[in-house]
Parts: sequence; structure tokens; C-alpha cells
Amino acid sequence: MKNFELYEPSNVREAVATLVKIGPKAKVIGGGSDLVAGVMKDWVQGNGMPLPDALVDLSTIPQLKGIKVDKTGATIGAMTTLTEIVESKDLQKQFSLLTQAAHSVASPLIRNFGTLGGNINQRPRCWFYRGAEFNCYKKGGDFCYSVGGDNRYHAIIGGELCYIVHPSDTATALLALNAQAKIAGPRGDRTVPFDQYFIGPREDVLRENILKADEVMTEVFIPTPAPGTKQAWSKLKNRQVYDFAIVSVAAAFTTDASGNWADGRVVLGGVAPVPYRATNIENQLKGKNVKNSIKQAAATIRTAARPMSMNAYKVDVAQTMVERTILGALG
Ligand SMILES: Cc1cc2nc3c(=O)[nH]c(=O)nc-3n(C[C@H](O)[C@H](O)[C@H](O)COP(=O)(O)OP(=O)(O)OC[C@H]3O[C@@H](n4cnc5c(N)ncnc54)[C@H](O)[C@@H]3O)c2cc1C
Ligand code: SF4
Repeated sequence: MKNFELYEPSNVREAVATLVKIGPKAKVIGGGSDLVAGVMKDWVQGNGMPLPDALVDLSTIPQLKGIKVDKTGATIGAMTTLTEIVESKDLQKQFSLLTQAAHSVASPLIRNFGTLGGNINQRPRCWFYRGAEFNCYKKGGDFCYSVGGDNRYHAIIGGELCYIVHPSDTATALLALNAQAKIAGPRGDRTVPFDQYFIGPREDVLRENILKADEVMTEVFIPTPAPGTKQAWSKLKNRQVYDFAIVSVAAAFTTDASGNWADGRVVLGGVAPVPYRATNIENQLKGKNVKNSIKQAAATIRTAARPMSMNAYKVDVAQTMVERTILGALG
């Protein structure tokens, strides 16, 4: 493990000031389960990805923790643990999609100290990226090892230069719930909908989101769903005890009295470098009877998919899971 300096700010302004003072070699830390126990322990580094010299610990900022639910929606501090989210009765009642997704993350031990901010902003799990000896594009190198290598868990949609899949289950659910992130930085606070938060390799292969090195995600806001919104989460994984998604599906939608799709979102995890909003499926369902149209609508995932040499199976899995998840939501 590389040595580092530890900073313990007492408020967000101090955390941001420390990031500004030290520069890009300082990183914020939530629970540390990815940054310290993964990236730094395993020496995941390259020209475009130096290991941090300093860690800014957000656990010393009490304002970043907690869940508030009111008429307008739910506000969740970035340092709230995944277990706290899973166990919140208020969230279970109105935002079951998020509590189910959070419950499917890792193991109880990891959920006890893994935070919402850390889960959304964790780095990808591509096994070449995580191997110290592979200096790939994402670390600032000049090669993607997944193209000629074992790519069975890689992207089937939106890969270009780099074919990671976004690892966060909560991010997939939050995008389906039309949530937004609040971000603090030296230029003040800004609010970014998750629709615009994640970026693919074409935009910047070294990053997975729009956060700048001197910014901190402080909270997430989820608007109260429209009355009668149906929510459903499903996730296929290899090891049942705990694992990242091979494919996951988050759906939140409303229907009219005849069972026709009124409004909603379908988001897939495990298929693309960002949580993938399947607008093609949503558009196919618009105004149509959901039960009668879902089979055909789910098949449109095939028009977006460009599988690699070893992962065409994911296209079939994604299509079937979309169909089952939406039918499951209808009950
Ligand atoms: C064995 C194992 C299995 C796992 N399985 C799953 C799974 O199935 N699904 C899933 O979604 N995840 C899974 N994970 C990932 C796990 O959930 C994350 O490690 C955890 O949620 C990260 O939270 P943390 O608070 O410990 O993050 P940290 O390690 O503290 O941070 C992770 C990253 O986010 C950044 N960060 C943290 N907080 C903020 C903030 N507030 N603002 C800006 N940046 C921030 C850090 O700088 C760092 O780059 C697994 C991890 C392990 C080790
Ligand atoms: S998929 Fe991305 S992270 Fe994996 S080897 Fe290729 S460039 Fe690196």
C-alpha cells in the first residue's frame, strides 16, 4: 500500500479547500472500500491515473450523512451507508427501487461502510484495469486489452476505446428514478441530473462522470414518484452470495387505467460504460398496452447492442430481463 496523508475536514468547504490546495493527487474517501481496499492496495495506476498522495476523509463531516423524506422527495447525504438506505422505512415505502438495488450491492459487511457517494463514484471493475501490469487506455496507456482478451463481462452498448461496464447498482436505480446529484466545488454548489452525470469513454476515457478533481458529491435528491408509479429492480450475477451485475434492470413507470404506458424510465446496468437509459424501449412502449407490447419493445435492445467476441449472451439476457422486470412490476 502506498503511503498517503490523511485529512479530516469538519465541513464541506474545508474538504473542497483541501482538494484545491493539494490538486489532483488528493482524492476524497467515503468508506474506502474501493479507493483504499481496491485501487490503492492493488496499485491500480498509470500515466493518466497516479495513485493519490492525500486522502480527504468525508466521514468527519456530519452534514453529509442522513436521509430526509418530505412531500417533494428524498434527500440522501453522500456519506449515508448502503445499509442505512436498505433499512430506511421511508425509502422502502416510496423508493423501493433504490432500496432493492442497494440491497443487491456486495455483502452486508461492505454495505455497512460503503457509502452512497462511494458507490456511485467507484471506479470500474474491468479485470485488466484492476491488474497492475495492464497499462490500458483508462489508466492513460495506449491499448485496450479487452478487445483481444477475455471480454465476457464487458460492454455490449456504447463501448469505444474502452469497454467497461458501469459498476454501480445504485446509479442504475437512481437514473431510473430521475434523481439528481448535488455537487460542491470551489465555484459554489451545482445540481446535475443523473441523466447528465455519467460520461462514456468517447467524452473522456480517464473518467466515468463529470465530477472535477476539486469537487465533492454532497447529496442525492430523488423526486417523489407520480402516484401509482410501478418500480422494479432485477439483477443477474454469477456468484449469488455477492457479485457485480452481469445485467441489471431498473424500471419506474406509470400506466393509465387500461394498462397503457403513460410515462417512465427503463435503465440497464452491466451493459455499457454508463448506466444505460433504454429510451428506444421506452419509446416503443409509449401509449401502448404494456403487457401486450413488452416482448416486442424489449427486443429493440438488439438494435443498440454491438457485442464483443465473448459477450453476445448478454444481449439475450438483457432482452429477457427487461421483459421479465416490466411484467414483474405490473404484478
Ligand atoms: C467484493 C466486492 C463486491 C462488490 N459488489 C458490488 C455490487 O454488486 N454492486 C455495486 O454497485 N458495488 C459493488 N461493490 C462496490 C462497493 O459497493 C463499493 O466499493 C462501495 O459502495 C464504495 O463505497 P465507499 O464509500 O467505500 O467508496 P470509496 O472507496 O470511499 O470511494 C470510491 C470512489 O468514489 C469517490 N468518492 C467517494 N465518495 C465521494 C463523494 N462524496 N464525492 C465524490 N467522490 C466520492 C472516491 O474518491 C473513490 O474514487 C463491491 C465491492 C467489493 C469489494
Ligand atoms: S475495457 Fe477499458 S478499463 Fe478495460 S482494458 Fe479496455 S481500456 Fe482498460
